[in-house]
Amino acid sequence: MGLRTSGAIASRIARGRCPGLERWVFSMKTMLLTGCLMMASVGAASADPAPGPAANRAAIDAQIEKSYPALDALYRDIHAHPEIGMQEVRTAALLASKMKAMGFTVTEKVGGTGVVAIYRNGPGPTVMVRTELDGLPMEEKTGLPYASRAQTEYEGKMTFVAQSCGHDVHMAAWIGTAQALLAMKSQWKGTLMFIAQPAEEQLKGAKAMLDDGLFTRFAKPDYGFAAHVGSGETGTVLVKDGVTSSNSDSLQITFKGRGGHGSMPSATIDPIVMGAHFVTDVQTVISRQKDANAFGVVTVGAFQAGTVGNIIPDTATLKLSLRSFDKDVRQLLLDGVKRTAEASAAMSMAPAPDVTWLHGTAAVFNDHALAERAAAELKAAGGDRITYVPATAPGWSASEDWSAFVDAGVPSVYFTIGGYDAATLAAFKAKGEAVPSNHSPFFAPDHDKAIRTGIRTLTLAVLMVTTPK
Ligand SMILES: [Zn+2]
Ligand SMILES: [Zn+2]
Repeated sequence: MGLRTSGAIASRIARGRCPGLERWVFSMKTMLLTGCLMMASVGAASADPAPGPAANRAAIDAQIEKSYPALDALYRDIHAHPEIGMQEVRTAALLASKMKAMGFTVTEKVGGTGVVAIYRNGPGPTVMVRTELDGLPMEEKTGLPYASRAQTEYEGKMTFVAQSCGHDVHMAAWIGTAQALLAMKSQWKGTLMFIAQPAEEQLKGAKAMLDDGLFTRFAKPDYGFAAHVGSGETGTVLVKDGVTSSNSDSLQITFKGRGGHGSMPSATIDPIVMGAHFVTDVQTVISRQKDANAFGVVTVGAFQAGTVGNIIPDTATLKLSLRSFDKDVRQLLLDGVKRTAEASAAMSMAPAPDVTWLHGTAAVFNDHALAERAAAELKAAGGDRITYVPATAPGWSASEDWSAFVDAGVPSVYFTIGGYDAATLAAFKAKGEAVPSNHSPFFAPDHDKAIRTGIRTLTLAVLMVTTPK
């Protein structure tokens, strides 16, 4: 998933809405004004060890200090050896072995290459924590010493592979979260259901795991949590209420003409003309049929037809990506694309085109009550700057098949964590350049802090729902 919008929200924070910073300034003033009182109360606070979010965070940070060198090595290993969706054999085995070593009951090959790791710790809720396993079919150009040079066969062609979406950060944070929760197991009750999901980039791994009995062979979780690193500042966490990512639909359209000589077009039916009409006309679905206030995108990302200038080909094949937040808008786009394609063909007296839905996923909706509660818990814990983004704000235009778990009835929160240190962001800004986003060949997050924030966020969220009242 790409998280351009996390940068936009981060800049909103930079423009002056930074409640964490305000609180910090306020508390510093309070400390200066009431120095003696504070000195006296320090002893009182340390004499009261009642666990709460701040004490939990201190315990998590202590565990991170112990586990971080090994997590860093794991991150670099996974980064240097990425695998494409549904081929994540090495990556899955690596995570499975680490979870087994910790005492989890591990089942491999769930939904292809997926891993399910269960840890029971008395009566209580079942909580799912997910990482993705897959890399992307692209060449990494970061120049990092542990950059990937891996190649594999994908859709019939050889391609480079890279962890350019940050799923390597998520995997290290996933292991670190399990370690922190086990170190604190006297504090919580319930069942951990840690899952490592294949093929998120292809938006099909979550469904593959569900179709393979994830919620029937194991358990249907009471809560679900996941986090994605983006191009915001490290040490920031966005907790979005309501719609979080977009509906995504990938379509293929094949216009069927009649080929012939380029000098005799009247003897042919030209599929390139049909496709060209379609590419421009389909944008009226966005500009004239969709509510102007509703988010919706139709992109024609591929147009393949013909070989040389003097041959009119038989067919033209187009590939499209549709995005929306609202389910009615999603249907309006799907209907509008099909209608426009059929009209373009009818104008040329051609047969109806083949319109094929390739794959897609629904928008992620974070649970309102759980998102509010998680934001409050994370803020109370301190350590990271937490921004609660209300349901009325738009989600990100990227898409995520985490929605498959949400739509299967699991109340969930999908967090967004910052990936670039303030100094890195400032250096890019000074050059007048945007930082490389997820899916850029130059995407190189400051993984050290991002992994730590990921562990804190996910561990605090699990403790929030598993700590006996
Ligand atoms: Zn991605
Ligand atoms: Zn991703």
